[in-house]
Amino acid sequence: MKTLSTLTFANSYCDLPDNLGTRVTPQPLDNPFLVHFNPLVAEKLELASITALEPTFVDVFSGKATLAGLSPLAMKYCGHQFGQYNPDLGDGRGLLLGEVITSAGAKWDLHLKGSGKTPYSRMGDGRAVLRSSIREYLASAAMEGLGIATTHALAIISSETSVVREKIETAATLIRVAESHLRFGHFEYLFYSNQHTELQHLADYVIEHHFSELTTASSPYAEMFKQICHRTATMIAAWQAVGFAHGVMNTDNMSILGLTFDYGPFGFLDDYDPHYICNHSDYSGRYAFDQQPAIALWNLSALGYALTPLLEKNAIDHGLEHYQHQLQQQYNHNMRQKLGLTLTDDVDSVLFSDLFQLLQHHHVDYTLFFRTLSYITVTDLPHSNPLFSELFQCTSDLRKWLDRYQQRVRLEPNDSQRLAIMQQHNPKYILRNYLAQQAIEKAQQGDYKLIDQLMTVLARPFDEHEDAEILAQLPPHWGKHLEISCSS
Ligand code: AMP
Ligand code: MG
Ligand code: MG
Repeated sequence: MKTLSTLTFANSYCDLPDNLGTRVTPQPLDNPFLVHFNPLVAEKLELASITALEPTFVDVFSGKATLAGLSPLAMKYCGHQFGQYNPDLGDGRGLLLGEVITSAGAKWDLHLKGSGKTPYSRMGDGRAVLRSSIREYLASAAMEGLGIATTHALAIISSETSVVREKIETAATLIRVAESHLRFGHFEYLFYSNQHTELQHLADYVIEHHFSELTTASSPYAEMFKQICHRTATMIAAWQAVGFAHGVMNTDNMSILGLTFDYGPFGFLDDYDPHYICNHSDYSGRYAFDQQPAIALWNLSALGYALTPLLEKNAIDHGLEHYQHQLQQQYNHNMRQKLGLTLTDDVDSVLFSDLFQLLQHHHVDYTLFFRTLSYITVTDLPHSNPLFSELFQCTSDLRKWLDRYQQRVRLEPNDSQRLAIMQQHNPKYILRNYLAQQAIEKAQQGDYKLIDQLMTVLARPFDEHEDAEILAQLPPHWGKHLEISCSS
């Protein structure tokens, strides 16, 4: 294990064409202090957790001090926001500090979010508030625990710096760690600004660093695009199966590695509602839960278009078709695991669609329904209504569905295997909005115990945590209707 001063840094991104970013020095926060630190993320960097307790840690990640080997840079990118192209984007309140190279040669970007103004800040102050930093910190740990590709958060640092949002809030920084911070919008920027040689450089960089198996492919750019489509499909299938709504699927928030990226007004479903809109500024429901698969396709088309200097039209079409195919395959696979089905049968698709209708009609908690079902043996299914009494007001429709599910499950070879699969794929713990909100309110008073507890259960959301049952309960009524704004 290493300390900050013994980490090995690279700055490969700085070797890319100059106009892909601007060197910027972080602006220090006033009286910064550590709020929370994730040792599981430190492990990826081979960083000893004890390092977080050293003053240097807070100094470096609050912008007060620098470290030899770091070369802070604000990335330039553009993107389609709510369907409209915006040429004016970039890291407006974050900096790529450098890349950690592990002893196995893995590369991890260190990004400091909330580090002050950059040339891309537009009217913004370059800061991130404690509230949204906690949401991103918890959400990235939750997604990792669920096995969903995501960026990570190493730590949160708070301060005595105040910033104005809808009210006065505390400024914080979040140390984001990811294999890459490249977005669809990086390619869009180079395409729309007619920098097509640089576009090719960037594609070569992506292949070299992230898809090195493609260097010898006969059409490496087409294969790269297909890989991006594949990873995006896998990510979206996972979101839809777990009930995650991102909220701001602009192309500048889409990772070229298919990582869940830029946590803002995201939300996990409480009651099953396919039209759930978690972002209260999304008036048209463009980014509603059930729109995500189509929006990701739209975003991939925008990326494909930006890659036209490197790709034939049929390569783009092929990638987009691959996205649809992989999404369908992966989603079916995920949902079959949620229902513990290892065989395929003709009745399955109707069984699935009727279940979704049932959950929607009765406003049933999505997570708790599947978790409850994953404890009930095949013989008990017809008598299991009482176990669902908290979830369903009226159980006659449920009863009919359970009878059909029982018949279907009887075709499966092994019931205990079914239950084991279901318990491994239906989380008991998710980051409900109200839990994040409670953790934020406590943290604003200097009490981080709920963050500790949430980090423990979210890291292992499929396990039982006997002392944390309260975090697995139905949300209170007020907790289902929190409005989460983009203002962060
Ligand atoms: P987001 O909605 O988080 O995807 O951000 C969209 C764009 O606004 C990005 O270019 C951000 O860097 C920028 N941005 C968001 N908040 C701020 C802020 N407080 N100060 C400066 N730029 C910001
Ligand atoms: Mg963004
Ligand atoms: Mg954001």
